[in-house]
Amino acid sequence: MPGSRLFLIGFSGAGKSAVGRRAAALLGWEFADTDEAIVEADGRPIPRIFAEEGEAGFRRLEQDALRRVLDRERVVVSTGGGLPLDAKNRRLMESAGLVVALDARAETIEARLAAASADAQGGARAESMARPMLRPGQGESAVERIAALKRERQWAYALAAWTIQTDALSIEQAAHEAARAWRRFGAAALHGGEASVAAVVVGGEAAYPVVVGWDILEAQAGQRFIDAGLRGRAYLICDQNVLHPYGRLVQRSLTAAGVEAHLFTFPPGEESKSLAMAARVYEWLAEMRAERRAAIVAVGGGVAGDLAGFAAATYLRGMPVVHAPTTLTAMVDSSIGGKTAVDLDAGKNLVGAFHQPALVLADVSALTTLPPRELREGWAEALKHGLALDAALVDLYESQADALLALEPELTTEVVARNAAVKARVVTQDERETGGVRTLLNYGHTIGHAIEAASGYGRYLHGEAVAVGMTGAARIGAAHGVTPADAVERQQALLRRFGLPSTYDGVDPAAILEAMTRDKKVSAGAVSWVLLDGVGQASIRRNVDAGMVREVVEGLRAG
Ligand code: NAD
Repeated sequence: MPGSRLFLIGFSGAGKSAVGRRAAALLGWEFADTDEAIVEADGRPIPRIFAEEGEAGFRRLEQDALRRVLDRERVVVSTGGGLPLDAKNRRLMESAGLVVALDARAETIEARLAAASADAQGGARAESMARPMLRPGQGESAVERIAALKRERQWAYALAAWTIQTDALSIEQAAHEAARAWRRFGAAALHGGEASVAAVVVGGEAAYPVVVGWDILEAQAGQRFIDAGLRGRAYLICDQNVLHPYGRLVQRSLTAAGVEAHLFTFPPGEESKSLAMAARVYEWLAEMRAERRAAIVAVGGGVAGDLAGFAAATYLRGMPVVHAPTTLTAMVDSSIGGKTAVDLDAGKNLVGAFHQPALVLADVSALTTLPPRELREGWAEALKHGLALDAALVDLYESQADALLALEPELTTEVVARNAAVKARVVTQDERETGGVRTLLNYGHTIGHAIEAASGYGRYLHGEAVAVGMTGAARIGAAHGVTPADAVERQQALLRRFGLPSTYDGVDPAAILEAMTRDKKVSAGAVSWVLLDGVGQASIRRNVDAGMVREVVEGLRAG
């Protein structure tokens, strides 16, 4: 049974203890710290426990400390940095309360840890709590050690129901955010049964939960809508393919929760992502006398999401939008991040706006009715998240490919949730794609977009073109000595396993090269390339040799 408990997870130095203490005061709760509880119960400082019992011994004591905390109610718990890596610990926390991650960049963490050990009082505490795992190896700086360990653990932190980016926040501000997270999501989880919030996107405009589960539309859509603070009518927008059953399931759930829900349907396909269709949506909303406090609910793939999101961004100068994605592409990509758009004859996505949703509700069971080709192309974006940003996800794709391709419910839900968490983390850090980490999501897209454009957007689905684009980027990376051979091999093996292409045909390579020069990501004539430094690690390069690119693009042609 979930209870009134707020668990703070994250790397050492993210501020869990200080923020936790203050958040407890704000909520009028008690505070507990698993590291302190270990030292108190055991009597030895943490470095000695590590030295005498090894990490495994320490982890056992840590789990005991966590179990003891669960006897208490109305408590904020600060946890050790490695605690959520253990699946049992995660389950214990998730079933007992709300898990919130505090995150910060490696540089911030290093500075905070250094300040704590320079401070006499903090120093004494830091000494008994010191983390032997943080000691840099030979030739490694403290920041490098922190960054490396953080990368290894990030997937576990990303599974929190809510992530607070603390770099620019004071302890007071972060504590307020944590308390707010409890009020908004923890309290909801108490009466909503199983919490399945995969991630929370925190941005300048607002914060919103991304809820991922299996078969949750009818059971949860209505309550989640209300929990998101939406009070008016719901205007559902979905394409005719997904009306049955998904549009109707959402409508039923909303109606059962006392929300008046109306439906607009449109013909499936990219052609509906047009200004003309947006105008039809506006006219419908006007006929229905939609008010600003009402919400638009997009049910379907990326087309429904982009069209409905665009209408929501513009009608009455903006109304709330909820996304209920039903394709893999929409679940792991388009529903998160707030990009909305319609197409013009002159090009795709030329007119649009950033408009963050109030809620994303992904029912992974919808993937079971998706046509195989659409499902396959969705995997391209999911593989990309792992290859560019999350090595642990790649391990999972490799070891569990069969179960994932068979859409095994529990595993597929976990993988979609982790993908949503990757995308959420990235867009949280770079809400408006200002050239920061969000650019890394364009891995494989430079050549991919050009293939789509040069082939007239019909021959290849987006994900298929991106798969070919990732193949090209890996070859360019390898030729420049950036991408190691084993990363290239692992990527290509995954693309094959998930049924994705690594070559194109029927498109003129010269047309692809020409389309690349017109890409949005070309600044001052130079193409920015996202290349892999290794599995799960991408970076941006600008000095890529044009002759080499031509050779690679020509070499990607089948036959
Ligand atoms: P889509 O919305 O056209 O859906 C693909 C097809 O699957 C459609 O025929 C649809 O009716 C059908 N369908 C959807 N869910 C189904 C289900 N559960 N069962 C059976 N059929 C189902 O396409 P998409 O691939 O989801 O999205 C592509 C669009 O998303 C493009 O327009 C692209 O530009 C956009 N996009 C936007 C972003 C963003 O950040 N906003 C990111 C990526 C892609």
